[in-house]
Amino acid sequence: MADLRHLRQDFPILDRTVNGKRLVYLDSAATTQKPRSVIEAIDHYYRTSNANVHRGAYTLSVEATEAYENARAKVADFIGATDSDELVFTRGTTTGINFVAYGWGLNHLTEGDRIVLTGMEHHSNIVPWQLVARHTGAELAYLPINEDYEVSLDDLDTVVNSRTKIVALSGMSNVTGAFGPVAAVSAAARSVGAITVVDAAQAVPHAPLDVALLGVDFLAFSGHKMLGPTGTGGLWGRRDRLEEMEPTEGGGEMISDVGLYESTWAPIPHKFEAGTPNIAGAVGLGAAVDYLSKVGMSEVRSHERALTKYGIEQLSAVPHLTIHGPADLDNRGGVISFQLADVHPHDIATILDQEGVAVRAGHHCAKPLMRSLGVPATARASFYLYNTPEDVDALVAALHHALELFGVS
Ligand code: PMP
Repeated sequence: MADLRHLRQDFPILDRTVNGKRLVYLDSAATTQKPRSVIEAIDHYYRTSNANVHRGAYTLSVEATEAYENARAKVADFIGATDSDELVFTRGTTTGINFVAYGWGLNHLTEGDRIVLTGMEHHSNIVPWQLVARHTGAELAYLPINEDYEVSLDDLDTVVNSRTKIVALSGMSNVTGAFGPVAAVSAAARSVGAITVVDAAQAVPHAPLDVALLGVDFLAFSGHKMLGPTGTGGLWGRRDRLEEMEPTEGGGEMISDVGLYESTWAPIPHKFEAGTPNIAGAVGLGAAVDYLSKVGMSEVRSHERALTKYGIEQLSAVPHLTIHGPADLDNRGGVISFQLADVHPHDIATILDQEGVAVRAGHHCAKPLMRSLGVPATARASFYLYNTPEDVDALVAALHHALELFGVS
């Protein structure tokens, strides 16, 4: 296992205790902890260069603009975009997908058109499409998951048919950890002239990714799931797609000219960034990307792959524990959802918290997937670069304790 343990000292929160125990943070799929360099970059920006961006002719405003646009260039480069104008700063994955649904979908869909999703999507890659389908009369169709928790491609050619205009899928499930078949699905989409939108909330933070090679049209991700601040994220789009997409928020910053009755838009990416942006957040996200690049995304992936292998082995040895996720480590990331006997996942999470172990419990904003799994909720442990085998051991010990408490033997 790539030993990244030395990185833990960069994360001040990992020094704290919870209920008298060492904090074992296993909820990075929900949000990640922040290294000192990110916290300090935000602090430094506010202490030294805070001003509004883009219009000011004075030094502070020029510095703030440079800091904001430098961050854009770093984030664009991090995902392999050669043109930083193709990177729109957003509040997160949810905002990015809504921008595409309303800004592109609303103007390109008509009655009878089809939007294809998969059976393992997060609500933020379902509900915006339902709303836009309702507005346009388009229909939704799904690629279901199979018994290996993977998106089934058996009916790909019939589900992605000539009426399909949009295919939207996750790069990795936040529940099962399964990777989405982005290459196969986007090839099918292209063959019928449809666009592909990737929910990369769980993909960008955990493995090398290159939008130039993916062959997709849009890709949305969240800054807070990749060491950056909350309220930050990115929507990458191919230049021509962004140019044909309408802004969905109007206001300052996003215009070229405003008349009493009509306005014209600023060039991309600014036409999608109405109002004063989250400048400090972007600076923090830039620092997060610096940190991840220094560690190396291949290192991050191999560390998490090994930790997931260890986690699955150890958890599989816990009596009455069922894991919901693919066995194939090459086709899954570091998210392990599980059931423990018939103990409610919320009770599991509460008992684990007593041991300092933070896991998530619930439907994980993926109710249709939960229904396919046949469970209302799961407990979920998720890993990042700062987790260690000892964290897995602490989880397993706490689960044994839970079994004792519930009298399950
Ligand atoms: N998609 C997936 C797969 C996710 O895991 C999440 C966050 N749980 C989202 C979308 C939404 O991200 P955000 O809340 O940051 O917009």
